Amino acid sequence: MQRPEIVQQVIAWYDAHARDLPWRAVDATPWGVLVSEFMLQQTPVARVLEPWRQWMSRWPTPAALAGAEPGEAVRAWGRLGYPRRALRLHAAAQAIVSDHGGEVPSDPEALRALPGVGEYTAAAIASFAFGQRHAVLDTNVRRVLARLELGEAGPANSLTRAERERAQRWLPDDPATAARWAVAAMELGVQLCTATAPDCAACPVARHCRWLAAGRPAGTAPRRVQPYAGTDRQARGALLAVLRETDAAVARTRLLSAWRTDPEQAARALESLLADGLIRQPEPDEYAL
Ligand code: SF4
Repeated sequence: MQRPEIVQQVIAWYDAHARDLPWRAVDATPWGVLVSEFMLQQTPVARVLEPWRQWMSRWPTPAALAGAEPGEAVRAWGRLGYPRRALRLHAAAQAIVSDHGGEVPSDPEALRALPGVGEYTAAAIASFAFGQRHAVLDTNVRRVLARLELGEAGPANSLTRAERERAQRWLPDDPATAARWAVAAMELGVQLCTATAPDCAACPVARHCRWLAAGRPAGTAPRRVQPYAGTDRQARGALLAVLRETDAAVARTRLLSAWRTDPEQAARALESLLADGLIRQPEPDEYAL
């Protein structure tokens, strides 16, 4: 397999077709990259763009966010979903201030020690923000490599050691080129090599692709996306939306009325928001961010 040649072709394609995203701009800071990675963990780019801009304008540095109340971070998280990420991002900002002098660390181990930063996010920040040489294995890159090299429709459900080793073999030796490859392979997976409708006719490396050569055999069905309507997640979102709209505390009955579908579910959502630290209970019958 001509890995170096494929890498160069994917990077050349990226240079011509990459989306213009603010956290990829030349003046984007490591903090901006870190914030984008938190927001993108479970939310698509289109929904992240505006909240990211507002967040960076309000809290342009880790110190700025660390100085705010956690409830303000939850409020500003808005409708991005999975709001515990806002609390983790706030905690990460505090750790950056207390342990790293207010500068996002470049060392992957130090990054991994931050709240909310796992293996993938640490590698992504080290690569995208600091130009280091790391395998950045999100679901898109994993799918691209599975198709190109293994001829399989997609990767296994969970990341395997063999997959990590394979990704290492794709990494160019030069850190700057490795970082370009990391973002370019991801973009290929997002734009062309999609899970359900890959556009192989437009793919710059189609002639190297084993999955295409094999006639694109079906893989195991992708995991079903968890439905949202009617779930506890939706109930929690409805209650949080009420608290985001006001600086004042809100009475329990008024808060629970935001989710009339199922009163028991509403009460359960309220308890879980409290347990997660996403809301406060300043008075026995009142709640606030
Ligand atoms: S040829 Fe198709 S399946 Fe293969 S890498 Fe390109 S887009 Fe993906």
